[in-house]
Amino acid sequence: MTAALSRMPGASPFWSTGVAELSPYTPGEQPQIPGLIKLNTNEHPHGPSPRAIAAIQAAATDALRLYPDPDARELKTVLAERHGLTPAHVFVGNGSDEVLAHVFRALLKHDRPVLTPDVGYSFYPVYAQLFDIALQPVPLKDDFSVDPADYRQPNGGIVLANPNAPTGRALSLDGIRAVLDANPQSVLVVDEAYVDFGAESAVSLIAEYPTVLVVQTLSKSRALAGLRVGFAMGQPELIEALERIKGCFNSYPLDRLAQAGAVAALQDEAWFEHTRRQVMGARGILSQGLRDLGFEVLPSQANFVFARHPGHTGPALLAALRQRRILVRQFNKPRIADFLRITVGAPEQVSALLDALAAIVSPR
Ligand SMILES: *Cc1c(COP(=O)(O)O)cnc(C)c1O
Repeated sequence: MTAALSRMPGASPFWSTGVAELSPYTPGEQPQIPGLIKLNTNEHPHGPSPRAIAAIQAAATDALRLYPDPDARELKTVLAERHGLTPAHVFVGNGSDEVLAHVFRALLKHDRPVLTPDVGYSFYPVYAQLFDIALQPVPLKDDFSVDPADYRQPNGGIVLANPNAPTGRALSLDGIRAVLDANPQSVLVVDEAYVDFGAESAVSLIAEYPTVLVVQTLSKSRALAGLRVGFAMGQPELIEALERIKGCFNSYPLDRLAQAGAVAALQDEAWFEHTRRQVMGARGILSQGLRDLGFEVLPSQANFVFARHPGHTGPALLAALRQRRILVRQFNKPRIADFLRITVGAPEQVSALLDALAAIVSPR
């Protein structure tokens, strides 16, 4: 390659206005290192339903020459039935990240700032910047919990991940209700990427509150991060705003394979129940093991735990684990730089991680 082609691209006069100033989201690494224990992106250790894989294979036919259903009607019907709603209450997109992007653009761009916890999913500030929406960070309590009373201030919308990321802590349904009751004039987006690992879903509040929008994904609890399927549920007026943005962006966000696989995954309740219970069981073992090593572990309702050790910094632990071919996530951000976010892996991965941390924090 010539020097001109291999140079890292920098800002160019050809870029549109504002592109040079953007700060894109940094996803967890996906390195191709043999034997690596990968506990950094909250992927499911047990794999998707075999019925989903079979459905994807069966959809890989000559029919791929045809565009998929732009409205994903079968998938919306299955999602609606599962949640006691109608298809008009459901929006689907290419992963919940895309759904969230449309949510910011369709529902959260107002004169007042959007409230969101100071420690939360780091994609929210990225979307806010992209769409020129002001965000007002609301500090979590010292124990990293959300206090609904902190959301009684003027706003142009509220976004909460519940369980929160990267803390894993969940807010109760009563807590969500308190935020909704205090904000009848603005939309509350509840990002439930991890809800199936033990938290209460706000879906049951949709009939009562025209302001609640619940976002979920098949990436975590259905073990389909590679298929890119996310969805939102709320009253049809909110859904219609999302459909309008989608119709200005991409008519076919979900391809034929994704629609077929998602439908089959949602129909395999037994696999879903079995595998999510395995993850919740391993989470208990991981949390206790970390506490036994002297870690402070936040109570988690997610498929990861958030933990820090009084005697070691986050970056030092991250580097020491990496040397032992174990990848976890650490965020160089205020309040949380000493925490590790550790995905709940398969039992043998949990043991390997605990053994490695034992050697790091209490060497003989
Ligand atoms: C993983 C995650 C998402 C995105 O999930 P995809 O559906 O894979 O795009 C959204 N929100 C939170 C809080 C997440 O952790």
